[in-house]
Amino acid sequence: MTILFNDQLIARDEARVDVEDRGYQFGDGVYEVIRVYGGHPFCLEEHLDRLERSAREIRMPLPYSREKTEHLLLQLIEADHLKEGYLYVQITRGVAPRDHAFPSKSEPVLTAYAVESQRPTDLMKNGIRAITQEDIRWLRCDIKSLNLLGAVLAKQAAVDAGAQEAILHRNGTVTEGSATNVFIVKDNTLWTHPANHLILHGITRAVTLKLAEKEGIPVREEAFSLEDLRSADEVFITSTTKEIVPVVAVDGIPVGTGQPGLVTRKLQQAFEQKIGVSV
Ligand code: PLP
Repeated sequence: MTILFNDQLIARDEARVDVEDRGYQFGDGVYEVIRVYGGHPFCLEEHLDRLERSAREIRMPLPYSREKTEHLLLQLIEADHLKEGYLYVQITRGVAPRDHAFPSKSEPVLTAYAVESQRPTDLMKNGIRAITQEDIRWLRCDIKSLNLLGAVLAKQAAVDAGAQEAILHRNGTVTEGSATNVFIVKDNTLWTHPANHLILHGITRAVTLKLAEKEGIPVREEAFSLEDLRSADEVFITSTTKEIVPVVAVDGIPVGTGQPGLVTRKLQQAFEQKIGVSV
């Protein structure tokens, strides 16, 4: 495995995290996960837009221009001959003596690497089980920050319950999944939480909304309740690595017929057309 460490490509064994890196001590940094299909990064501009926005929102400078970052990521894909998989890219505020306030001097540190992985076609076909969990995260979930403990605890609760994802809610209003956006279908209309500070503005979410529009599926970017989730005809989650995955049971109760629904299938097919593959 090759590591992109700042602007250098180095071997995995040579990569070292400084104990005073603020990403390590405070989770003071931002990240992206970018899907690679056939050796090409998918929605790269959208991911870099979001990376820049996340950095701006935490008042952290980025180490390189957009062009240079793009060039480095493409070099990384080439170095590891990555065809199917994803890039993990993180940038921290850098290394400085431990103090919560920003250091007066520090250089951001970029780390990235490529992971080979196939599309989760079994999950796409058969769906997953989800549980519901209270959303205990902070109020800036729109920032893709390294602070993921809320997500980690929610996902572990799902795994402990024999499920694959935790669907989060704030006082009964569904926000998103621990690492995915959540959609429901009710009376052939697609519902998903609006892109505000309570959810990550998923790139796959945005792609899915555009595909729905193209397919003539009515869309409502409006908050919906746990009751709406439980009585939905269809539920699905979206993310960079999962694409569109049906949820066939919530808290052990089947969603709709207990099988992936027609609207979900239609959107999966449209998504596959967009990325140029078929299962
Ligand atoms: N919501 C959360 C909390 C996430 O962590 C993620 C991805 O990791 C998503 C949604 C999906 O976002 P994207 O489609 O950009 O991968």
